[in-house]
Amino acid sequence: MDKPFLKTTSLNKLYPGGGGIKDIHLEIQPGQITAIIGASGSGKSTLLSLLYGLLSPDTGEVNFKGERVWGPEEKLIPGHDAMKMVTQAEDDLNLFARVRENVSILLPNTDLRAKEEKTNNILTRLRMTALADKRVNDLSGGERQRVAIARALVTEPEVLLLDEPFNQVDTSFRDGLQEDIRQVVKDTGLTVIMVSHDPAEVLSMADELIVLKNGGIIEAGNPQKVYNDPQYLYTAKLLARCNVLSAGEASVCGVRTQKQQVMIYPEWIETRRFGGSKWTVKQLLFRGFYEELLVENNGVILRMLNGEPGKYGEGSNLSLKIKKWVEY
Ligand code: ADP
Ligand code: MG
Repeated sequence: MDKPFLKTTSLNKLYPGGGGIKDIHLEIQPGQITAIIGASGSGKSTLLSLLYGLLSPDTGEVNFKGERVWGPEEKLIPGHDAMKMVTQAEDDLNLFARVRENVSILLPNTDLRAKEEKTNNILTRLRMTALADKRVNDLSGGERQRVAIARALVTEPEVLLLDEPFNQVDTSFRDGLQEDIRQVVKDTGLTVIMVSHDPAEVLSMADELIVLKNGGIIEAGNPQKVYNDPQYLYTAKLLARCNVLSAGEASVCGVRTQKQQVMIYPEWIETRRFGGSKWTVKQLLFRGFYEELLVENNGVILRMLNGEPGKYGEGSNLSLKIKKWVEY
């Protein structure tokens, strides 16, 4: 049998302040995008650094294709040779050099033709040929982020680690860059492990989601499964602006539960012509092709979606039916 691609065994790393990660057993599948999500301070960056070998675990180990990934104490140049990491920091970029030089400088001069080919290849894949002769200093934040990713990929690593690299990038750039990274994964078999707290990003990009809480993995699976059937309320809250109701509040919506809390995503609420519970629109938030409605009934407020903007006004009355919910 083949050796696991990238695997951790009871990995522990505790910082003096008490933060860190605990007992992480993880197996990353090659050729796909794994996203690690979790609240701020849940250990995402720590886990990524351990996978890459930038940090040494207290106990446990990371194995890449059956070989131990060594930490900075055991290895002269930190970071595994087959991996590259991109963070928000732009420290590595030479602002006064052109994009092309920033990317090609990572390749050896032993074969100049291959150097040029590889540089052009990655600039094309990341749709940066028009930027190639600009100085990094003259680029926008989003374009610089593309340069950082091109630099990481030009040496053809097997694993790309991304630590919230799109945070500073405006939405329009972000979407394009995410699609391009997905395409690189499809075309080249690159393995991506990304950390993010942007739900839209992880849901659309990831093949596999891993949820971290207080340094431990609490659930994992494909985005559809984790989103539609979150085992923990914590996960639902990370992934969407969901409605969280007490059992008493849930009964106002016609939902009976023996448990303490009920989670309802906005899209699980339907309007009904007849029957259902009676609600009043308190606020309308225009989102372009849809609206978010805040509706109220007996002091309970629900956030829901409306695909026909303009249909309701503040004070409109609605009959609602909850299609689906999850109990905790
Ligand atoms: P995340 O990336 O999910 O926000 P981190 O992995 O950066 O979380 O940090 C996890 C926890 O460990 C946090 O509570 C953080 O404050 C703590 N921590 C991170 N780095 C250090 C460090 N070098 N020394 C002490 N505590 C740290
Ligand atoms: Mg972090």
